[in-house]
Amino acid sequence: MTTRYITSVSQIPGLSAEEKKDIGKVENWFSFKASEYYLNLIDWSDPYDPIRRLIIPDPGEIEAEDGDLDPSGESTYTVVPGLQHKYARTGLLLVSDRCAGLCRYCFRKRLFVEGADEISPDVTAGINYIRKHPEVTNVLLTGGDPLMLPTRKLREIIADIRTIDHVHIIRIGSKMLAYNPMRISEDTELLGLLREYSLPEKRIYLMSQFTHPREITPEAEKAISALIDAGVMILNQTPILRGINDSGDLLAELFRKLSFVGVSPYYIFQCRPTHGNHIYSVPIEESYRIFEEARSQVSGIAKRARFVMSHATGKIEIAACTKDYVVMKYHQAADPEEMGKVVVCRRNPSAYWFDDYVSIVDECPLSSMDGPRNDLATGAPPEADTLSE
Ligand code: SF4
Repeated sequence: MTTRYITSVSQIPGLSAEEKKDIGKVENWFSFKASEYYLNLIDWSDPYDPIRRLIIPDPGEIEAEDGDLDPSGESTYTVVPGLQHKYARTGLLLVSDRCAGLCRYCFRKRLFVEGADEISPDVTAGINYIRKHPEVTNVLLTGGDPLMLPTRKLREIIADIRTIDHVHIIRIGSKMLAYNPMRISEDTELLGLLREYSLPEKRIYLMSQFTHPREITPEAEKAISALIDAGVMILNQTPILRGINDSGDLLAELFRKLSFVGVSPYYIFQCRPTHGNHIYSVPIEESYRIFEEARSQVSGIAKRARFVMSHATGKIEIAACTKDYVVMKYHQAADPEEMGKVVVCRRNPSAYWFDDYVSIVDECPLSSMDGPRNDLATGAPPEADTLSE
């Protein structure tokens, strides 16, 4: 079963003429795109259907002057055209400026607007940079969706990366399993490519983006099985989104279903304050509650995700909330000195982003601690006698 892409709301049969008129205005700012397959997952009798909300433009996107186009400052970490290097061990190659659908809450809208130049179809400079940086053990292919590239082009990129000894993991960030799983299950050349380059000591990971349990269809399960059979590991990441997955029970169902089909829940993200995203955002402390409610209902395997915020300074985990405080921890940090840093803030139920917390009452970087954890902050191995204490 192949699927067709629809790129204008005027072509959607499920919408009334009135709705098309309202929604059409949003398209001028951030386009609409969906596969016919994905549109068929929508329950058109429900105006609040979460799948509909995820993909069909909402006039609210252009009503508020909120956010900016690059809230995590990603572009500032671009070291050569098409390559971001923010965390020492990971290089991000932006290889595609197309997706199989346009998520309304997209955090990379800037890549789809006219004049965007962060994507580089020629990855030579990026790969040369990685070759000269032995600390890079992971390369994430992203964009856009790398699986929108022709398989032939993907082969060139993956084969080139595999000539670099120090790169062990190749990740492909893709929402294709949700938007058009047949792109994977029906392309034997793609599956052959993944099988060839996902090696016992050098795996390929597919970073999937299932946002709602209804996206895990029999078609998606077939594609997941094909990927697993090709030796690909699959990890899932998704933001918590208002009206889409902002309930503990629903998120628990997503975690559960993912674990049943062999996909490991990896990250739950705080929705980035990108322009147009406010109507999809849930305050941090509410998201944390939803996340914990979901985790309390599932097995250990299904609750492996962390709740994080991709901030300009690093990936900050929201680790705990007490009656008065929120405890956050740098899971990844752009500045290695900040790795593992714990930040305790006074609670602010209206906070949507790290910057909304002004009252920092305690700050304990690992580098200020004694013992082996002090060494972890600098990346140096702990002394043997310290470990045995
Ligand atoms: S798949 Fe990712 S890059 Fe593409 S529209 Fe969705 S959030 Fe944006």
